[in-house]
Amino acid sequence: MAITNSYLKTVYDGLVQRNPEQKEFLQAVEEVLESLQPVVEARPDIQANGVIERLVEPERVIMFRVPWVDDSGKVQVNRGYRVQFNSAIGPYKGGLRLHPSVNLSILKFLGFEQIFKNSLTTLPIGGGKGGSDFDPKGKSDMEVMRFCQSFMTELAKHIGPDTDVPAGDIGVGGREIGYMFGQYKRLQNEFTGVLTGKAIGAGGSLARTEATGYGLCYFTDEMLKDAGKSFEGKNVVISGSGNVAIYATQKATQLGGKVIALSDSNGYIYDPNGIDYKVIKEIKEVKRARIKTYLDYVPSAKYTEGCSGIWTIPCDIALPCATQNELDEESAKVLISNGCIAVAEGANMPSTPGAIAQFQKAGILFGPAKAANAGGVATSALEMSQNSARLSWSFEEVDAKLKGIMQTIYKNSSEAAKRYGMEGNLVAGANIAGFEKVANAMIWQGVSY
Ligand code: GLU
Repeated sequence: MAITNSYLKTVYDGLVQRNPEQKEFLQAVEEVLESLQPVVEARPDIQANGVIERLVEPERVIMFRVPWVDDSGKVQVNRGYRVQFNSAIGPYKGGLRLHPSVNLSILKFLGFEQIFKNSLTTLPIGGGKGGSDFDPKGKSDMEVMRFCQSFMTELAKHIGPDTDVPAGDIGVGGREIGYMFGQYKRLQNEFTGVLTGKAIGAGGSLARTEATGYGLCYFTDEMLKDAGKSFEGKNVVISGSGNVAIYATQKATQLGGKVIALSDSNGYIYDPNGIDYKVIKEIKEVKRARIKTYLDYVPSAKYTEGCSGIWTIPCDIALPCATQNELDEESAKVLISNGCIAVAEGANMPSTPGAIAQFQKAGILFGPAKAANAGGVATSALEMSQNSARLSWSFEEVDAKLKGIMQTIYKNSSEAAKRYGMEGNLVAGANIAGFEKVANAMIWQGVSY
């Protein structure tokens, strides 16, 4: 597909001209605008109110210096960001990513995607994203703490429980959220739900840790069921080994699947007997070691250097849960020729446009990230609700709400696709369903907004 509608094409061409170097951001926008063509054609009020011009420009971008002192006493400087993309339906909401690859393009793509994902959850949250090019890998706890405190010293001026509520993403888990929360509380003298992913007992929600991985499997299950299929007896390949991959492994196994491979940025493990998520949890969260360590626990497993080879393992279901653009057109072709029936994205934008085109051409089930991985942020919004009410719900209660939300996201996305004559195309369906609510709220609030 290409952007042929003249209004959308003019907006997109202008965006390319203004941000020629922001490749990931442009990739994310192009995919959404392609999907929106029938909506823009059916609804002249969108162009009349300049919705798309406004939608592709973040409401605010904050960039700042993050100085911190390493264990040897040397001053280090990283760059911090918060992209406050769209607050039409609620306070900015989205994770913080700590990874050396972080730059403005990556955070704008993530913030842009977050607008539609958050809208799809049916909960009142706008879209934002932030982070830094700081690399937590190999840093001591104290170094991570000093970085997080310095990062929050600036970020605290721009966020708040009704303004912008960050959370985790790659490189940010319970440890980092704790250090940042402590610093925010100290600066503002306020114990408040300004971050989600907090510890249980300090305002955190049960099931938030598991939510993205569980939600991904609930969504995939829904998609499979609609096609008369299920996880039962299926071989599942999951890339990554972080928070999303760990709990997707647990839930896919509970639903009757067998997870036979996982990876990190160095390589992948293959275990035809099925991987126990608890082993990965210990390796990654307790030892903070590499996935290769799995061989110490299961010597019969196989380790291969290089992570993209994971897609050559024959499987029925593939769940890319590592990072953006990790699954390219060639890998998609291999997955399809090996008989893969379903792909659902746990990471943000893990499939390249070429890969998505292959999946669609082959007619296999494809669950795009905005819909499939929305369970994490949805449960963050449930954490916000509990904080506002000063209550905490049981694990079962949160998990049941999460499952209901994922079922609704699937239903709304597939119905939107059908409504615009693109039955089965969940990429278009998720983009349209997420967009409509945001567009209506933007129009309702006036054009100066
Ligand atoms: N980083 C996650 C995402 O990509 C979660 C964001 C949140 O909980 O605010 O959606």
